[in-house]
Amino acid sequence: MRPASCSLCDASLEPILLESPHWRLVLNYNQSLLDKCFLVLRRHAEDITALAAEEWADLHRQTIRVAAAIDAAFRPDRYNYAFLQNQDRHVHLHVLPRYAAPPSVGDHAFPDSGFPGHYTATDRVVVDPGTLDRIAAALRRQVEGYDAATTATAPSEPVEVVDYDASWPTQYTTERATLLDAIESVVDIQHNGSSAVPGLAAKDRVDILVGCRSLRPVSDYYFALVDHGYQLDSLWTVDANSGQQRSHRRLTTADGAAVRYTFVKRREGKFNVHLVRHGTDQWRAPIRFRDQLRANPTTARTYEKLKRRLAETTTSTDDYTLGKSAFIASVLANADPDRTTG
Ligand SMILES: [Zn+2]
Repeated sequence: MRPASCSLCDASLEPILLESPHWRLVLNYNQSLLDKCFLVLRRHAEDITALAAEEWADLHRQTIRVAAAIDAAFRPDRYNYAFLQNQDRHVHLHVLPRYAAPPSVGDHAFPDSGFPGHYTATDRVVVDPGTLDRIAAALRRQVEGYDAATTATAPSEPVEVVDYDASWPTQYTTERATLLDAIESVVDIQHNGSSAVPGLAAKDRVDILVGCRSLRPVSDYYFALVDHGYQLDSLWTVDANSGQQRSHRRLTTADGAAVRYTFVKRREGKFNVHLVRHGTDQWRAPIRFRDQLRANPTTARTYEKLKRRLAETTTSTDDYTLGKSAFIASVLANADPDRTTG
């Protein structure tokens, strides 16, 4: 069945982005469409009619993972998927992200010349090896982020609140220097969240609020943070009716009106970095809340009790966060904005 030479059976196929039981995801050298990649069957078969049921099921799962990872990075306007097998007689599915406006990586723009019609099959964009490595590394990390996010929201995942750790402020200070170096146009950086309130129990994560001069498209920050070990976790919009912030994991479901991007680092330290526009509500409210807790030990104690109770009674991060929101709103309502800085 397998011919003497098949380029897709070739063990040197690269860069490989992920391997699943039946498929291997490979990034195209030709990045005529940014993040263009293909899922290759791990055995030699020459037509999709030869696929087994479990291979189809696995392909379905992997397509969802890949699209979620690409969505989180570049928000394509749509995808084309193609089984072609014209040159390589070995089953593979092309994943072709389509863009109305050209996305960019560093100084390199990737225009989709055929949009909104058929992609232009003859376009060739061969980037330098460094840029290709960067795109591959980012996509790998984004897949990991997707896996972690889907696992983290599983009902079995408890939220753990730990006693105050005196190393949190030091961890913040070190990471702050890294972020100032990595992100352009930063006006101010603040340690926020419970780990910024001395004595308060918290989830073992250091939250960092980054106030930017303006909030540019998420792809402008993406690589700088990925290079420092971060994954994009969520994009936040404000609900027009309730005024509440809402998070989106699949960025294509959100409109362009993002007010906050959250990146997380799960290895080499535990940090949540929130990028917002300096001076907006998204900048001021978390700082006001932190200052209230710092200034009012009784309020901080009440908050800690609530958090410990929620950690025991809720089964997901989302429910835990929802449980805190009414308390945070009431503290902010009582806070006098004129008496705090930020
Ligand atoms: Zn083959």
